[in-house]
Amino acid sequence: TTPLRVDDLVKTFHQGTNLVKALNGVSLSVSKGEFTAIMGPSGCGKSTLLHVMAGLTRPESGAVWVEGEKLSSLSDARLTDFRRRRIGLVFQQFNLVAALTALENVMLPLMAEGGRGTAGAKDRAKQLLDRLGLGDRFGHRPDAMSGGEQQRVAIARALVADPAIILADEPTGSLDSGNGNAICSLLKELNQEEGRSIVMVTHEPAVAAWAGRVVVMKDGVVCSDWHAEQFPDAQ
Ligand code: ADP
Ligand code: ADP
Repeated sequence: TTPLRVDDLVKTFHQGTNLVKALNGVSLSVSKGEFTAIMGPSGCGKSTLLHVMAGLTRPESGAVWVEGEKLSSLSDARLTDFRRRRIGLVFQQFNLVAALTALENVMLPLMAEGGRGTAGAKDRAKQLLDRLGLGDRFGHRPDAMSGGEQQRVAIARALVADPAIILADEPTGSLDSGNGNAICSLLKELNQEEGRSIVMVTHEPAVAAWAGRVVVMKDGVVCSDWHAEQFPDAQ
């Protein structure tokens, strides 16, 4: 099944007496193993689109399917559970839990209601942290790690439940260019070596250049959709 499809999404915000159409009919489909960047000027609706794809914001019309599951047909409780298992989220500000260690943060998506981990949760989290070069950081809390390390922990957390799709909102936005490049390179590796499907919002062309597909938005609509395979000489 297609990892992610959105159809004719509309989302309006009220700002005082104004109505802002953050999404004004957005449709797109992400294939398995595709690495898509979403670009466009500030305020064009990129973050809103990512939040709607993630089930964090409900649109007033249109639909989102993740692996064939229609998010709007799920109750809030089932949506939360579905998101924990099937959608990996990565944010600009990392969004790690400050009181928990790196290992505990990565295990979070594998903790069911009541806080009991699934069998093997700890091993799986350790294995991922090792793989991302954080084998010596298991017991570190976020404030004891650099921004680049925190974002790698966040990526490990996003991957731990083996989700259908990784959604990343400006994942390099809080990092210097060296750490930003390392994160892009890691996402590319996860995409190419493991066939991970990734949608990444960025306003930086150098970051979008890592993706094989670039969707450009303007004023709440998609205005172009570029696939590397249509231009085999470009990469
Ligand atoms: P981008 O990520 O491309 O910068 P956003 O999706 O954040 O764009 O915002 C799209 C539009 O929706 C902007 O005009 C923004 O001001 C508005 N908007 C986004 N979130 C809210 C909100 N929670 N309340 C009111 N307006 C919002
Ligand atoms: P609102 O509906 O109030 O506009 P959103 O639902 O878009 O707000 O979320 C606001 C921010 O809260 C997001 O950008 C995200 O950083 C954070 N957030 C919301 N839900 C979660 C979640 N389940 N996991 C991690 N961060 C979340």
